[in-house]
This record gives sequence, C-alpha cells and structure tokens, in this order.
Amino acid sequence: MKNKIYLDYNATAPLRPESAKAMVEIMKKPLNASAVHSFGRQGRMLVEKARIQIATTINAPTPGQVIFNSGATESNNTILKHFTGERILVSTIEHISVLSAAPNAKHIPVTKDGIVDLNALETLLKQKPTALISVMMVNSETGVIQPVKEISTLTKNHGALLHCDTTQAIGRIPVDMQDLGIDFLTFSSHKIGGPQGVGALALGLCGITPTLLHGGGQEKSARAGTENVAGITGFGIAAELATIPQSHQEKLETFLKSKGAIIYGENAPRVPNTTFFSIPNLKAETALMAMDLEDIAISNGSACSSGTVKPSHVLKAMGTSDDQALSGLRISTGYATTQIEIDTFIEKFDKFLERIQK
Ligand code: PMP
Repeated sequence: MKNKIYLDYNATAPLRPESAKAMVEIMKKPLNASAVHSFGRQGRMLVEKARIQIATTINAPTPGQVIFNSGATESNNTILKHFTGERILVSTIEHISVLSAAPNAKHIPVTKDGIVDLNALETLLKQKPTALISVMMVNSETGVIQPVKEISTLTKNHGALLHCDTTQAIGRIPVDMQDLGIDFLTFSSHKIGGPQGVGALALGLCGITPTLLHGGGQEKSARAGTENVAGITGFGIAAELATIPQSHQEKLETFLKSKGAIIYGENAPRVPNTTFFSIPNLKAETALMAMDLEDIAISNGSACSSGTVKPSHVLKAMGTSDDQALSGLRISTGYATTQIEIDTFIEKFDKFLERIQK
C-alpha cells in the first residue's frame, strides 16, 4: 500500500493491524472450536468473545442471537431464501445478493434522491399480506441512509418481518438493532477492517432461525461448517474498533462541485465516508484508469462482469439514463484515510480534468 492512495473502502477496507496481528497468532494453532480438548476450548473462547464484541456493536438482544458465517452475501441468501414462496418486498437499490436471492420479490421504488419511497411501501403492504421486507440501512454506491425506523414501524403495523443489510452502515453511523426493531440483520467483516470471508447474521426475537447450510451442529445448528476462528477473532476486533472516522466529504464535494459534478443523493441523509458523483461527459472507466495510473484507487458503482461494465442499477433506480448510470464514480474513505491523501486526490483529479478538457 506504500505510496498508493486507497479510496475504495466500500468495496473492502484494509485489514486493521490489530486484527491481522491476532489472526496470525491464531492461525498457527489447530483451533477447532467444537473440539473438547484445550485447543478446542481456546477456539471456543475466542469465538464467544467475538460474538460479544459483535452483539455489542449492533446492540443485538443477546450475543446468542449472532450467527457467524462467510459474509453478507451468505447472510442475505440465508434470510431471503428462507422466505421463498412467501410475499417478499425488497427495495430496488438492494445489493445484488438480495436481488438475486429473491427473484420473485416485489420491488419497492426509491425517490430520485435514492431513498426508499415510504408511500409506495405502504401501498404495497396494503395490497396483500407480506412475510418479509428487506431494505438496506446504507446504500453502498450512494451512501444514502434509509429510513429504517419508519420502515420498521410500517413493517410491524402490517405483521411482516424486517431484514436489514447493515454492511455499509457499521463504522459509518451508529446501528442499534433493538431500537430499530430489526428482525434479521446482515453484517460483513471486511467493510470495517476485518478479514474477508467472514460475516454475521443477527436475529431479533421473532423466534425464526433461517438456515442455509446444514451439516455439523456448529453455531447451534444455524450454520454448519467449522468456525473460522482466526477470521471471527479479526472480525470481532475490527467491530470493537469501528468508530466513525474523520469525514472528508465536505472538502471533496466542494472541489467536485466546482468542476461541475453532480453528487448523487446530495439532498438525502448520507454516511460521512461516501461520495458518488458524475462529471458531465466523463466516462467512469476513463477516470478510473487515469487515477489508477496515479496510484489512486477509486471506484465506479457499476458491477463489472466478463469485461462488460453494466450501468449502475442504483442510479437507474434513481431515474438516470443509461449513459449517466455508466458515469458514476465513487470515493469511499475509512479509518486510515488522511487529509494529505484527499489533497493529493484533489490535485491529481484536477490535473486529469484539465488534460481531458483541453
Ligand atoms: N451487502 C452490501 C450492502 C454490500 O455492500 C456488500 C459488499 N459489496 C455485500 C452485501 C456483500 O458482502 P460480502 O462481500 O461480505 O459477501
């Protein structure tokens, strides 16, 4: 990472040194948390410590409501697939793992600012009995914070259950599962500086335990497979350290707007680490490559598969054209981002714009 500037925390955050240090020591030992010998007991102790750290971070009803797994994709699949065949409502801006796991779900539209349309949600709820509503707390592309409390009230008033993907919220804004009345909460380690391939699903008190993987009785039979003791420990440490970092949003956006940028979700409440923008007539790909040559990592919001860049489904849901949806650029900062890095990005991006506008 030396001399490189990393501004893509919403894709994945650099591993916290504290997590890395603990994980390296743990990986040297054969710790199967289900074994009865002393190694097993040490593994169990580490897993249960992390469970308390995670439960505290999100204010889960009890640590026992936290189930460790491989990440937010697995949590989302676990929940959505459990309700297959029942009526599910998902917002149009959900992560692809939610949209793909519930292909028959009804879609809740968003406003042009990227906020879930509460009136449309109420209308959908009045139409037919609904089993599950799935709305993320923070959108990964725009950083727009969704009105989860209001959605929770509507959900309860109509006898449904609420799933909330909080992957992009933890470490950006406070998340209180009990206060928000969330029944199923998705959470990923690598977006907060923990290792990749680890995550959690937290359950509220509705008494339902959706289960995707069957096999050994790990995680009280809610998720089979030997626990990733090192990963879970690194995750717990990262969760404990996940305080809200310094925001560079105002400085970045003042500069970008002076260059004619449109900031998506500008009028909506947003997390302090994310800026999603377009510069008229500038393709995201061109800017990404130019910044990469300067050793600066930024992102486009679009998914790239088999070499074709697809327009961002989030921008499309907010009503933009295909062309505009291909021009979105995202800067996302985190715990290790410095003011100097932001100043360097501004300087290099400014020079790049001057070059291409000549
Ligand atoms: N949900 C959201 C909102 C995300 O941003 C991501 C990661 N891009 C995921 C789910 C998937 O997370 P994971 O990599 O842990 O499977």
